Order: sequence, then structure tokens, then C-alpha cells
Amino acid sequence: MTILLSTLNARYTHASLGLRCLLANMGELQGVTQLQEFVIGARATDMVEKLLAHQPRIIGFGVYIWNVEETTKLVALLKRVAPEVVIVLGGPEVSHESNEQSIVQLADYLVTGWGDVTFPALCKQILYGPKPLMKIHAGVQPPLAELTMPYQLYTDEDIAHRTLYVEASRGCPFKCEFCLSALDKTAWPFDIDLFLAELEVLHARGARLFKFVDRTFNLNIKTSLKIMQFFLDKLEANPQDPVFAHFEVVPDHLPDALKEGIMKFPPGTLQFEIGIQSFNPEVQALVSRKQNNEKAAENIRWLCEHSHAHLHVDLIAGLPGEDIASFARGFDRLLELQPHEIQFGILKRLRGTPIIRHTEQYGMVFDPYPPYTILATDRIDFNAMQQLVRFARYWDLVANSGRFAHTLPLILNSPLSASPFANFMRLSNWLYATTDATNRIALERLAVLVAQWLVSEGMDEEQAAAVLRSDYAGQANTKLKTQALKKAEKTAEKKAAAPQRQARHMTA
Ligand code: SF4
Repeated sequence: MTILLSTLNARYTHASLGLRCLLANMGELQGVTQLQEFVIGARATDMVEKLLAHQPRIIGFGVYIWNVEETTKLVALLKRVAPEVVIVLGGPEVSHESNEQSIVQLADYLVTGWGDVTFPALCKQILYGPKPLMKIHAGVQPPLAELTMPYQLYTDEDIAHRTLYVEASRGCPFKCEFCLSALDKTAWPFDIDLFLAELEVLHARGARLFKFVDRTFNLNIKTSLKIMQFFLDKLEANPQDPVFAHFEVVPDHLPDALKEGIMKFPPGTLQFEIGIQSFNPEVQALVSRKQNNEKAAENIRWLCEHSHAHLHVDLIAGLPGEDIASFARGFDRLLELQPHEIQFGILKRLRGTPIIRHTEQYGMVFDPYPPYTILATDRIDFNAMQQLVRFARYWDLVANSGRFAHTLPLILNSPLSASPFANFMRLSNWLYATTDATNRIALERLAVLVAQWLVSEGMDEEQAAAVLRSDYAGQANTKLKTQALKKAEKTAEKKAAAPQRQARHMTA
């Protein structure tokens, strides 16, 4: 008799914290419970075969926005091949608006919300009776002190090859309407000393990469300082074998004590994900996001200038009340602060989030299929939204990749517009018109395209080749260096040798 806990992770390197939390809290059923993780893109029949090889009585699936379509197919196949296996669903994607979801119709039971206590209780009922009367079970939320932390369940292979997700707290006190955490109302902390003792064990076992899933790391400064000190102690004791920690922070709350701690982290050891989402106060008010923009900007600037923390700052396009001009102003404002990466996301309608209250008034049209991306609003029509989607994709390839560090400022600061957003949008539109693609563009080809675009904007050919050369100089990937540059340089050489009039045609 086996209970399986399964999910499809977005990548192999993402070890599911949710499944491990459930396993840690299975109580007397833990001995008969096993994990079986997959990665999206795996063949459904192969997954069915692997699951059934365990001869499970019950399979619990973690369902998320990124895996709901594939998990639906998997459950449908399982129900055909082995209808006797009891399927229990859980996870944020199926915790709201459940009745209309085909995966829920296919499954036997559903646990909404927290599953740590309710899932094992449901399994006991399924195995030993009485048979559960209800299909949908609202997850009980126990005090965190009553839960067993899951960190011992990370295997040596997880520690060696995967990102270790950890949580010092659950929930969020803020109410941003596009976010599922808006439903939490508050944040609940785990006992910090017990939590750090678990991290200590992980570190002793060789763990060096810790990603905190806490929605707001800098909510309780006393706790934040303790966690930071844990990592600073490790860094001091093992400078040759450093740890790396990733935290999500709110940008407008960075007291001096926290700044002092942050300053002590050497390069390559600390990463912050910072949500700005929008700099437009009217949009912020509409989505109930409380944010002091001046303070947030000041803190991001401070972090860039005084710390070695790597900063990813999030913006969301497609929020109610935001038009392209307002989004562009926010983008340019953020760019001026010079964070290392701007994560440019397009609004998604997560099931259960209160943002739907704006649907009618702001003409919000969402894709009916996961991940429910916004397609149009009353201020951004479908075509303009598509342009933003492509901008986001090319921004990742050109800016966030870090592969065009010298070329990027030339793209953004073109004399043709004072707005870096407008300048990059021209590149984005040109790239799409030229390639008809936003993915599967090999880096070598992208480099040549960027050089061509710079020339088409009026830059001297040799200068364009030289700036690309400076981006590739010193890169480990010599294949890129030789192929991309040779192409760009060859073009520049040919053009330099050609009469000027002829050269103009060769840029086309
Ligand atoms: S966006 Fe961030 S701050 Fe806002 S509710 Fe979600 S987790 Fe909390």
C-alpha cells in the first residue's frame, strides 16, 4: 500500500517544497508515502507508467498554474488505465473556482488551501474509513508550531543539484489584488530558532543555495536580521565555500539596521527580488497596493550603490488603469535606478485573486487558458499588448541575459528618443518584423541582428561591430565569440571596403 505525492515542477532544479511539507506531516502514514516528481514536458504515458510502478492506492497531485494543463492530461490517463487509484488534488491552482475545472471533475478528492493537516487526515479516511462524504475538503490551517518542517527530506542529490526552497514564514499582510497572497490577510512566522537549526543541518550537509519563498523577507526586521546573521556567519567561517541566499523584499521598508547587514554580504552571495509592479499611484490604489514610491526608489538606488546584492525588480504590464505611456514612464524611472534585472511580467489572472472585480470597468480580457495572461484592457488593445509581450521576451534575451552589457546602453540611449522604453520598443518591433520569432533565436544570430539594428538606426558599422566585440571579449563561450563576431566584423569589413552609397544598401 503506497501513497504517492507527485507534481510537475517547472524545472528539474526546482525541488518541490510543497510536496516535502506534506510528506513531513504525514504522521503514521509517512512510512508508506513516497515522492515522485516530474518536470513539465515529460510524456504523460511515461509519467503514468512511473506512478503505477509504485502500485499506489492514493496519488496526491500538487497543481499549479504552470502544470495544470499537463496534470489534467495525466489524471485523465490515470483514470482510464487505473481507475481504482484514488486521486487527490491540492495546490493554489485548484484551491479557488474549483467547480469549473476539468481536472477537479476527473479527480476523486480535492484539498483547498493548506494541505499539511487535511491531506493526511483524508488519506486515513480513504484507507481505513469511513469513506469521506465530501469531494472538496477545505484545508485546515494549524499554528505553524504544530507542523513538522520538511528540510530533512531534501536528499543528498537535492542538496547537490537543486535549489533548496525554504520558508521562515507563510502568508502576506498586504492585499495586492493581482496576487494570491492577498487572501492571506497576515503572515505567520515559523519559530526562527528551530528554522535556523534546520538550515544549519542543511548547510552542514553541503547546501549552499537557499531560496526563501517568504512573500516579504523584510517584514519583521528582528527576524530578518537573525536570518542574515546566519548567512554572514557562514560566509565568515567559509569564505572559500560561500552560501547564496535569495529573498523577496518590499522596497519601501529598509531600516538602517537591515542596511548595515546587507552591506556586509560580499558579491555573489545575496539576491533580492523586489516588487514594484507599477509606479503609477492611481494604478496602485486600484489594485490596493500600498507602496511609497519615493522611498522605494530611494532604497533601490541605495542597494545599487552601497551593496553587492543582485537586484531583480518586478514590473507588471496590463494592470487596470495603466496605459502604455504610464507603464513606459514607470519602466524608465526604474531603469534610471539601475537594478541588475528588470523582470517585466504581463498580468496573469490567478484563480481566486480579487483583481477580477475590475474586469468590466477596465475592459480586462484574459486568456481563458493557463496562465490566464491579460490580452487587452480598455487602455491597451490586443496589438499593443502583443508588442509588450514581445518586448518582455526580447528584454530577457538582450538585457536580463547580461550578454549585451556594452551594447545595451547604446540601444536604450538612442538619440531618437529620450525614453529608453521607446528605444527598446523600436528594437523589439524590428526584431519581430525581421525574425517572426521571440524564441529559439540563437545567441550568435541575435548578436548579428542587434548589430544590424544599430546600423539601421544610424550607427557606424565598425562601431557596432566594436561594441559587440567588447560584449563578447572575455566570454568563456568562444564559439559565440568567434561565430557572432566574425559575422558582424565581416559585414563591417565588407562595408568599409565598399563605396559609401553601396554600403547603405547592404545594411538593409
Ligand atoms: S504582491 Fe507581494 S506584497 Fe503584495 S500581496 Fe502579493 S506577496 Fe504580498
